[in-house]
Amino acid sequence: MSASSSAPALFDLTGKIAIVTGGNRGIGLGMAKGLADAGAMVVVAARDEVKSEAAVKELAATGAKAVSIAVDVTGAASCRALVEATVARFGRLDILINNAGINIRKVPESYSAEEWHRVLDINLTGSFLCSQAAYPALCQAGGGKIVNIGSMMSIFGASFAVPYAASKGGVVQLTKALATAWAKDNIQVNAVLPGWIDTDLTRDARRQVEGLHERIEARTPARRWGEPRDMAGVAVFLSAPASDFITGATITVDGGYSVQG
Ligand code: NDP
Repeated sequence: MSASSSAPALFDLTGKIAIVTGGNRGIGLGMAKGLADAGAMVVVAARDEVKSEAAVKELAATGAKAVSIAVDVTGAASCRALVEATVARFGRLDILINNAGINIRKVPESYSAEEWHRVLDINLTGSFLCSQAAYPALCQAGGGKIVNIGSMMSIFGASFAVPYAASKGGVVQLTKALATAWAKDNIQVNAVLPGWIDTDLTRDARRQVEGLHERIEARTPARRWGEPRDMAGVAVFLSAPASDFITGATITVDGGYSVQG
């Protein structure tokens, strides 16, 4: 078989069913667009149903297949209901993108326990609960893909984001542990560490942290902030047959931010 005839299948997601948590905006929507372009049916899963419906309309306007199903990733029952509704509607689940996340920025000494738990519950526990909920359906499909979203703060510290950094460090270890557990089921679990991407989350950060915008631009070799569409390619790669022997890996998508000395 020639390289050209085998190449498309490597990145073809036709017939695949994908859940993207936090898929109604920002990085999640950027990834959802990539998966849909590659042929997947995308379930946009977040709390705000109005925003999720708007995202579905945006996807559908480009010919993509997408629906929205509400979820709060902090609840095990909600995560299970999301997977059950997906399988009831589409018969299978192949791909889970654990993208839902928040940040609360403060000096470490001023967090309440509730604020600490809120960040950990959504960013780390939510990824675990969704993965756990998806596991039986992925097994049923003969295997599948889980993509967890870490951060530059999976590897660097930040004085204004202690629970966030702890949660995103945890996401990398969660990824490795699930990868080792579920490789036998033909489920690949990988993590993406985005650099600084222009979204609602980082618009807040730029308002709250003086000089952040300029610092990021100066440190990033690509000399720009990322856009949600910059995250589409890695989502497709880690969801497609092209990455079938890659598991437990973390891939930075950061314009070179993390390798700048
Ligand atoms: P946004 O704030 O734009 O989007 C966050 C998404 O998460 C929304 O869709 C939101 O939907 C969803 N969400 C939040 N809480 C919950 C919940 N409890 N249950 C279900 N969905 C939830 O952020 P980004 O797009 O910037 O971030 C997406 C991911 O990427 C996060 O994990 C973030 O930490 C990570 N990241 C972002 C970077 C950046 O520079 N932007 C850099 C590195 C990592 P709703 O409110 O409707 O529930």
